[in-house]
Amino acid sequence: QDGAHKHTYQSDVARLRKIVINSLYSHRDVFLRELISNANDAIEKLRLTSLTEPMVLSGAESMNITLRAFKEEDGTTKLVVRDTGIGMTPDELRANLGTLAKSGTSEFLARAEKTDTTGTGNLIGAFGLGFYSSFLVADKVYVASIAAKTPANPEPVQYVFASSADDSTFEVYPDPRGNTLGRGTEITMVLKEDALEYTDTVKVTELVNKHSSFATQFPIYLFTERTEEVPIEEETPAEKPVKESDEEAEDEAVVEDVTDEVEEKPKQTQTVTVEEWVHLNSQPPIWMRDPKTVTDEEYELFYQSTFKDYEKPLGWAHFSGDSGSGTAFKAILYIPSKLDDSFWQSQQTAADIRLMVKRVFITSDLGEDALPKWASWVKVVVDAEDLPLNVSRELLQNTRFLRQLKSIIVKRLIQTLTKMAERAAQKDDEEDELAWWRVSQVFNNALKLGAVEDGKNKEKIAPLVRLPTNQRKDTSLDEYVENRKKGQKQIFYLADMGKSPEVLAKSVFVEKLNARGYEVLLLGQPLDEIFVQNLRIWKKLPFQDVAKSGLKFGDEDQDPEDEKEQQQELAETYKPLLDWFKKETQGAVRNVVISNRLVTSPCAIVADTYGYTANMEKMLNAQNQ
Ligand code: ADP
Ligand code: MG
Repeated sequence: QDGAHKHTYQSDVARLRKIVINSLYSHRDVFLRELISNANDAIEKLRLTSLTEPMVLSGAESMNITLRAFKEEDGTTKLVVRDTGIGMTPDELRANLGTLAKSGTSEFLARAEKTDTTGTGNLIGAFGLGFYSSFLVADKVYVASIAAKTPANPEPVQYVFASSADDSTFEVYPDPRGNTLGRGTEITMVLKEDALEYTDTVKVTELVNKHSSFATQFPIYLFTERTEEVPIEEETPAEKPVKESDEEAEDEAVVEDVTDEVEEKPKQTQTVTVEEWVHLNSQPPIWMRDPKTVTDEEYELFYQSTFKDYEKPLGWAHFSGDSGSGTAFKAILYIPSKLDDSFWQSQQTAADIRLMVKRVFITSDLGEDALPKWASWVKVVVDAEDLPLNVSRELLQNTRFLRQLKSIIVKRLIQTLTKMAERAAQKDDEEDELAWWRVSQVFNNALKLGAVEDGKNKEKIAPLVRLPTNQRKDTSLDEYVENRKKGQKQIFYLADMGKSPEVLAKSVFVEKLNARGYEVLLLGQPLDEIFVQNLRIWKKLPFQDVAKSGLKFGDEDQDPEDEKEQQQELAETYKPLLDWFKKETQGAVRNVVISNRLVTSPCAIVADTYGYTANMEKMLNAQNQ
């Protein structure tokens, strides 16, 4: 090309392109999602910039994304994705498309090189491949772009970035066609021989619906052609309905369907080609719809594309409300499938709350303390009706609306979790049980934190916590209380941080209570003991550490004091038997005593308090051999 500058890709980019091209064939559908997502970002950027610099809006009327496939005379097939967004200067073309500017992409790369191919496929969902995914379907890609007009750049020039899939270089040159775009970016992909399916409008519509219907609030239009029988009018014959495809006219993305006007008495018909821009994402956004009309799959896909999570959410709540200060809003709250590794490493975690005002995205940065720490993992989209559109973040953080919104979100989250727990407890739906089980696996410790730190809500959070016992894999506090023995006046627990429930269950203290049929909470997790100590009582029953004094039993007169007396009586009664035993077992055992630890077995051989345990002895013997 004239005036073209040849550049060699930064080595990271070359590596990434290689992975993309070689190992992601079966995931190549994602290219469209990535390009639409970039187009959305570019228009979003334009819109935000225009709030302070209206000049950037010149060049094109509308904010939209268009898709169009066509065959060239030379036989190649092209797919064009175009947006009326912020555009790029030639320097930006080089920097943004020729280097790995985005940390997400670098992370993808780092992980991809350690994973096998199938793993890499999953990574796409997590990180996104961005622009480079276009090479999954194209031999050659041209990116024509014109930067938005600003006082610093009042006469932007349209440039092209061009690169082939099998080349380690790219070129940037002034677009020989001149400024055809008006504003924005146009990505032209010369499709590979085996990627011609992407010219099929049915296929493209399907893809957009599946992966991108939630990716943008701006309209996506798809160019379609179909043939139709239309009547021939006597005065105005055939040529009228045919709309020529016109590169220059593409700014007005919606071309009226020309078949609207039907003559009253048609005498003859003829076949014409009807060209039409079809609006693909014409449904209102999911949070604006009646929850009854939204399917589970739609909620899941919306979550996955909004929060860039490859996994499905574990649960959600779709609700509308009023902040109390008069601001009405609609919201969807999601429970993700995992807790970020960083959750336990920091004091505060910024919550993922996407705030919109009247369908327009405002910010997802509501500050570090947007939600209490324990709940900061929840993912939320909120659309408010009447906040000023250009409200700054600092201002926003201090509005009453936001404070109220936070407490509503926490309340809803607790409500959602409680419902899930209740549904699981009915034990009549395996999916409900599995969903709650997974929530509990992931968030149990976070919920303990909530019960400890969120004074206002601890009574509602505590019932969601699950703890292992000597009788069951786990229980809620309410279940424990229901399950208590007649007359039981305390909630028994044994706490020893770091020990597994299995080990704790073998403790002498637990064994004794177990024998009497009492359930004992086995607390081995870091927050467990703080959790019960902070609550102090539950349903009027105080928590009691079974390794400490103060145990009370409700059944009969089994007070530790009474027990001592009883023990002495027994010792006297059975002294002759004990003496006989001691004589017979001399040398083999250290002592013979009357035990209160046993219930069903007549006798047991146990380790001396100061001696080796049976296990230790076995190990030592093995070593000495
Ligand atoms: P990411 O979107 O994660 O930043 P991409 O590889 O998708 O990574 O895009 C790289 C960069 O190229 C973007 O950050 C953006 O600056 C620029 N870019 C890509 N597509 C467009 C576009 N349609 N309009 C304007 N800039 C774009
Ligand atoms: Mg991108």
